[in-house]
Amino acid sequence: MDNMLRQCRAHGHFSGTNCAVCNEEGKFIMSDREANSLGRILALVLRHAPEKFGVDMDINGWVNTRELSEAIGNQRRHYHWLRGWHFEAIANADEKVIGLLLQKIEHGNEV
Ligand SMILES: [Zn+2]
Repeated sequence: MDNMLRQCRAHGHFSGTNCAVCNEEGKFIMSDREANSLGRILALVLRHAPEKFGVDMDINGWVNTRELSEAIGNQRRHYHWLRGWHFEAIANADEKVIGLLLQKIEHGNEV
């Protein structure tokens, strides 16, 4: 079975089927497959082609998450549901992903 990214009302985002703290099922955010695929799109947008997606990147390589989610939703129709807070959910659920995400954002303007 696919792993999932979920949100516990009391303890925040987690990866898996139940909150590690209270064992609640929480609210479904997205599947691991979607989170991974999103990670690859993020890498593409932030590292290589922000302008192709119509994303404005500032001089420090930072982008607006709302603009980013809209840009990805416009380019990849199956991500029409994507919102800025989904990036936060991915980053909160898994420290490894936070590192990855921050790295991608930091290195976004090095092309
Ligand atoms: Zn919980």
